[in-house]
Amino acid sequence: MSAVERPQHPTSVQDAWGRSLTSLRVSVTDRCNLRCQYCMPEEEYVWLPRETLLTFEELVVLTNLFTLQGVDKVRITGGEPLLRKNLPAFIAMLRQNSRIQDIAITTNGVLLAEQGQDLFDAGLHRVTVSLDTLKPERFKALTRRDTLSQVFEGIESVTKMGFVGLKLDTVAMKGYNDDELIPLIEYGKRVNGEVRFIEYMDVGGANDWSPDKVLSRKEILTELGRYYGEIEPVVEMSSAPAQRFRLSDGTIFGIISSTTVPFCSTCDRSRLTADGMWYLCLYAKSGLDLRKLLRSGRSDEDIQSIIQSVWRVRKDRGAEERKELEHQSGRRGRYIEIDRLRQDPHLEMHARGG
Ligand code: SAM
Ligand code: SF4
Ligand code: SF4
Repeated sequence: MSAVERPQHPTSVQDAWGRSLTSLRVSVTDRCNLRCQYCMPEEEYVWLPRETLLTFEELVVLTNLFTLQGVDKVRITGGEPLLRKNLPAFIAMLRQNSRIQDIAITTNGVLLAEQGQDLFDAGLHRVTVSLDTLKPERFKALTRRDTLSQVFEGIESVTKMGFVGLKLDTVAMKGYNDDELIPLIEYGKRVNGEVRFIEYMDVGGANDWSPDKVLSRKEILTELGRYYGEIEPVVEMSSAPAQRFRLSDGTIFGIISSTTVPFCSTCDRSRLTADGMWYLCLYAKSGLDLRKLLRSGRSDEDIQSIIQSVWRVRKDRGAEERKELEHQSGRRGRYIEIDRLRQDPHLEMHARGG
């Protein structure tokens, strides 16, 4: 995409390729109550030390500095964000910043029925629930926990709580859930949620990743087309990762094709971990320690200008680079060796929030 076609934010800082800084994913914890095989396949991890976790006040200070550089969308993630105590208080604090137009959360849904109403009342705008299967036994095998009924309960209660714009994110994997695309779309229709299929990515803890497990955008469209008939792309100018499609009955679904058709050229998002590391790309192996700057008493102006200068030289295009490897060597192996993952928890998907 050329710089002319790329959606640009009028007031936001641009990176080296003209990409705006408009979206921030804030991870509030690296802990999780599931053990999804593609994300956190082991039971125990090296967790971020408790004293390094930023308080809500600190997270708000940093988020507010990001909004001065153009961020107007904040997504709360984790680990499992609903494990962080008092999350509604954090949402309410973020809502005081009028530059933030949209506050969303990505959750596995297990604690959503319990906590959703307080989050809505605190001002959370939108909810995305990760849902890879509708089958309890499969859920248990995939997540090592037997809590699918709680996830359903959460999903089915969000509309009553007042939320609109529910999304259901499914990592589509061959040999795991490739036979559930249609049931998931049908479930989405029932609960008024837009299903988005995410291609399986070789990030962080995805130790079991291999190219033959990736269900590609093309394959997803073929499979759905066979059942539903004509599928038309929704034409829209957006830097959102999902490309959206419409079935003939009007149902909209999305595909996030990070692996086979990466969209780095329009990527406007970066990630803040629960301990204040700032990553410019999901695949980045190093980040900027904003906690250190904050806790060493650097002024807001200093931190803001550091954020600005770091973004200005950003050239990250991790998913595209991974894809290019396929052509260079004919194969795409493990991204990060397990020993290195064990030494640095930040490299895990559950630390940087997906
Ligand atoms: N725990 C929350 C949840 O699962 O929704 C939020 C954090 S999770 C890391 C965020 C998203 O990353 C989830 O939708 C999850 O499915 C996705 N994810 C994790 N590992 C992935 C992988 N290897 N490939 C594609 N998506 C992945
Ligand atoms: Fe699964 Fe999300 Fe937990 Fe990762 S962080 S194991 S994707 S629920
Ligand atoms: Fe953005 Fe990196 Fe993902 Fe590409 S791989 S879309 S640059 S976060």
